[in-house]
Amino acid sequence: MKKLIVATGNPGKVREMQEYLTDLPIKLQLKPDELDIAETGETFLANARLKASQIAKATGEWAIADDSGLEVEALNGAPGIYSARYGKTDQDRIERLLNELGEANNRQAQFVCAIAVARRDGEVVLETEGICRGEILQTPQGKGGFGYDPIFYVPEHQMTFAQMSPEVKNKISHRGKAFEALLPKLATMILKSDHT
Ligand code: IMP
Repeated sequence: MKKLIVATGNPGKVREMQEYLTDLPIKLQLKPDELDIAETGETFLANARLKASQIAKATGEWAIADDSGLEVEALNGAPGIYSARYGKTDQDRIERLLNELGEANNRQAQFVCAIAVARRDGEVVLETEGICRGEILQTPQGKGGFGYDPIFYVPEHQMTFAQMSPEVKNKISHRGKAFEALLPKLATMILKSDHT
């Protein structure tokens, strides 16, 4: 069983990642509490790379990090990497986004998720990105999920993320796609590496 430190303080994120990686002999572990990495990158990938690399260096273990958020076309990509910092609560963030978008006809948006894996010396050896396209509704719909889910409508499924079962969302979401792309690369890397 290989160990990977997850560059997050959120145990829920570790559990979610472990579910995506169930088919691999990998044990994920929460990062030490005292290690805090500032997300100073200008892209999702830059932030994922930064977090994985710094946590790997600081712990001397392999590390994995993700960074994700929502890009709205008519807002020139906002909230983007600031998605988590766009308001105090999920409701505040949704209200702010709907206010800024107003009556705009162009409601196109996409969720993006970047993942990076770094080896013990901090070098990033794997990275992937997943995208899920959709539209921003005028009013929230659905009670599931978290974050911007109730206003993110996916036309192919005629539902918002908040109306989907977790199984469907996990399959089609930006995070699901990023992990789908990561899995074969991670499997090959584990087989090849002397990573213990
Ligand atoms: P982070 O990747 O954990 O930093 O999350 C970034 C922020 O993007 C979250 O706090 C949410 O506001 C938003 N976000 C990322 N993924 C999702 C999603 O699947 N649904 C809704 N909001 C999301």
